[in-house]
Amino acid sequence: MRIKFIQRIIQAISAFVINSAPDFFRTKVVYGGPEKNLCLPVLNCHACPTARTTCPLGAIQTSLAYRQPGHIWFPLYPLGVLSLTSLLVGRAPCAWLCPFGFFQDLLSLITGKKITIPQKLNYLRYLVLIILVFILPYALHGQWFTKFCPMGTLEGTIPWLSMSSLLPGIKPGYFIWIKLSILAFVVIMSILTSRFFCRVLCPLGAILGIFNRLSLIRLKVESTCTKCGACRKICPMDISIYENDGSSDCIRCFRCTQCRHVSFAVGTKVIRKKSPPPESKNISGNNANRVEAADSKT
Ligand code: SF4
Ligand code: SF4
Ligand code: SF4
Repeated sequence: MRIKFIQRIIQAISAFVINSAPDFFRTKVVYGGPEKNLCLPVLNCHACPTARTTCPLGAIQTSLAYRQPGHIWFPLYPLGVLSLTSLLVGRAPCAWLCPFGFFQDLLSLITGKKITIPQKLNYLRYLVLIILVFILPYALHGQWFTKFCPMGTLEGTIPWLSMSSLLPGIKPGYFIWIKLSILAFVVIMSILTSRFFCRVLCPLGAILGIFNRLSLIRLKVESTCTKCGACRKICPMDISIYENDGSSDCIRCFRCTQCRHVSFAVGTKVIRKKSPPPESKNISGNNANRVEAADSKT
């Protein structure tokens, strides 16, 4: 099945639907209608002129930074949406719905030299989450992740600046160069290696991955897996899913289900058995060829 093709179509529709509020062209202000109360589990800047929904990271930071004495300030709503999503489908919104994930997938289509990055770097996203999304907004009363967010620069800062002749109130400060440099760095890295921001830096992906191991929709790797490694070669997150089918890095794109030893499963599974050792080297080789050939067709 052409999983990658179907994924691209769904991603494109999602990016369009989330960013198609038409009001801006009439009002020249960011859309603020009823859909703006919706917090979707995707990275999409709500300062984008045509964004319909609210970014959960923005909502978390706002709750913490601008808390009022006597009011409930704990970001229950965005954290609830993210936790429930993670429990139901794990990080699937990263593969299928997130506009910034889609943007990175498009960048990775640019051909040329590709690099691999150490998997230990993936832990950085938890630091970004704790420091920039929780601690600094709470302690210093500001939206610290938003200041540096590359999606915010792409969807918010750049469109607003490009309209500065129409909207004379907008004046770029020195900080714009920091924001543009971060975006440029993420773009270059996303060309060199797939899903760089998702793997290494995204705090939203960090939250969505928390319950990946327990999620209702998950992957199941059979004990017959030969550990040939072909699934890792086609995995956008560079994961050896046969070593840990509950990996918090897995975005549930299901490309690896092209291997007959990996299947889509519904239902939680808390304790996982270790797979037995590989049965035969020949089977591994054949399987690798089969999986790679299938992926190149999609
Ligand atoms: S990790 Fe972040 S940027 Fe990547 S797809 Fe998930 S929410 Fe979007
Ligand atoms: S491609 Fe299939 S057989 Fe090979 S390592 Fe992955 S899951 Fe195992
Ligand atoms: S392990 Fe499979 S489902 Fe998970 S990200 Fe990699 S290819 Fe996609």
